[in-house]
Amino acid sequence: MSARPKSCGPCGQCCKVFAVEELGKPMATWCPHHRAGAGCGIYPDRPASCRTFECVWLMDPEMPHRFRPDLTKVVLDQDPAGTRLIARCDPANPLAWRRNPTYAALKAYAAETWGTGRIVMAVAGRRTWVIAPKEDIDLGESNPDATLSVVEENGRIQVLVSAPEPPPAR
Ligand code: SF4
Ligand code: SF4
Repeated sequence: MSARPKSCGPCGQCCKVFAVEELGKPMATWCPHHRAGAGCGIYPDRPASCRTFECVWLMDPEMPHRFRPDLTKVVLDQDPAGTRLIARCDPANPLAWRRNPTYAALKAYAAETWGTGRIVMAVAGRRTWVIAPKEDIDLGESNPDATLSVVEENGRIQVLVSAPEPPPAR
């Protein structure tokens, strides 16, 4: 088996953005075990959800170093079905997804997948945006895990939000 091409290194951005149920840690707060610049302070004993989570940057050997989440302040995440690419931001820095290189990459992915049923989104706490090739649709305070249907008619995009699900924990 070949060695994994990437490691988290000092990142730890997901240790703030996500809730960790095993620790009772809410989303958008630093985990008390995170050590700035050094990663997890309980790495050998970290909870199961921390062991299994991998962001898109970590999973994708081709994604350049400049996209590492502690540099962009954006954790790129996917839903289990692979239908959503979600740029998860710290609510203290909710528009981090609008900065490059992240924004250009999200727009390019939205253009590539538009109309296929995949949705590109940005989330900061409960604030949610759908990223379309030509515009960004601000859904305001919403449950980012609700079911979303994107409808385009005569060049006008509507996003229908329904059936909220429980808040995300990794
Ligand atoms: S955000 Fe990604 S790279 Fe950073 S610590 Fe989490 S899994 Fe690792
Ligand atoms: S236990 Fe470690 S890996 Fe898990 S959130 Fe806390 S610092 Fe991050």
